[in-house]
Amino acid sequence: MKYHIGVIKGDGIGSEIVSQAMKVLDQIAVKYGHVFQYTQLLMGGCSIDVNGVPLTDETIQACKNSDAVLMGSIGGNTTTSPWYQLPPDRRPEAGLLKLRKSLGLFANLRPCVLYPELRGACTLREDISSQGFDMLIMRELTGGLYFGERRTEEVNGVMTAVDTLSYNENEIRRIAVKAFEVAMKRRKKVTSVDKANVLDSSRLWRKVVNEVAQNYPEVTLEHALVDSTAMQIVKNPAQFDVMVTENMFGDILSDEAAMVTGSLGMLPSASLNETKFGLYEPSGGSAPDIAGKDIANPIAAILSASMLLRYSLDLQTEADAIENAVKKVLQDGFRTGDIMSDGCKQVKCSEMGTLITERI
Ligand code: NAD
Repeated sequence: MKYHIGVIKGDGIGSEIVSQAMKVLDQIAVKYGHVFQYTQLLMGGCSIDVNGVPLTDETIQACKNSDAVLMGSIGGNTTTSPWYQLPPDRRPEAGLLKLRKSLGLFANLRPCVLYPELRGACTLREDISSQGFDMLIMRELTGGLYFGERRTEEVNGVMTAVDTLSYNENEIRRIAVKAFEVAMKRRKKVTSVDKANVLDSSRLWRKVVNEVAQNYPEVTLEHALVDSTAMQIVKNPAQFDVMVTENMFGDILSDEAAMVTGSLGMLPSASLNETKFGLYEPSGGSAPDIAGKDIANPIAAILSASMLLRYSLDLQTEADAIENAVKKVLQDGFRTGDIMSDGCKQVKCSEMGTLITERI
């Protein structure tokens, strides 16, 4: 089949790592008889340099015309790059926020996997890390505290700041449905995280998630409080499969879970809207400190391409083939600098892309 993929390489290491992901996708196309037609698009600092703005309407439209978008990362050194002399709404990151909003990307998926070969990088105790873990955090991305009404004012002579945490049942239902759909493609367990012992928004969250669960009898649902979940992630991460939560809780828990895997260059992410469309990108940034040296780890970008196949194109076998090739290359002892350990062979970014391609 023929698929249209928008490609935003972006800034810093973006171009190097996305090129490796495209190399892998091209091998998938050959092996499984697909055609991936790429449309290269500018966003972030590189778009500021060419167009004067981080995101153009043409780029938004081209993304909408694609089946999915594969992205690297955007931004530069926030202290030295001239992009950060611009007003905030003209800086690279403003382009990404606008793109997410324009495409209605309300569900952010971050798988956090501890590969047996990379246990040494895990920050947890050996008896915990030796069990490995494979969880996926689904964070609501367009509602809650970060998008609610806010103000700072003087009340009776005292400066007072107010942020509003609001969710309606439709916003909760659509992310709950995504969580159960994704769980059906994994180990069929959903942990819904809230603060229902205190917050009204969490009590509505719990009620709606329970309603949605009725339609997925094969999936086990459990509810957990956010404070206890933060502890459980470091105590027993292997218990989690899909974790679904609101915007701010997800922001914090996904960084915690990412940290315990110990390797930023390994973590992909996806942001989905109500259709099958999604934007797929590594969890890390543009790493300006190592850009242009061919030493970045391309695995997060390659696994982002695998998520694109799985969630937007419904190509499960092909997605599995990429994930298995990544596991194989780690088993075979190849590492980029960021995940290097004794007894392994250190390779460059482009070599890592080739080694994974060869294992498909
Ligand atoms: P960063 O994630 O770019 O880098 C943090 C550290 O991790 C650096 O030492 C970097 O070398 C390393 N690192 C990151 N990805 C790596 C990879 N694939 N392989 C090997 N090492 C890797 O975070 P930062 O330095 O805080 O931010 C740099 C720029 O990236 C900033 O402009 C920031 O705004 C931007 N950023 C963009 C996104 C995005 O595009 N979604 C996300 C986060 C940060």
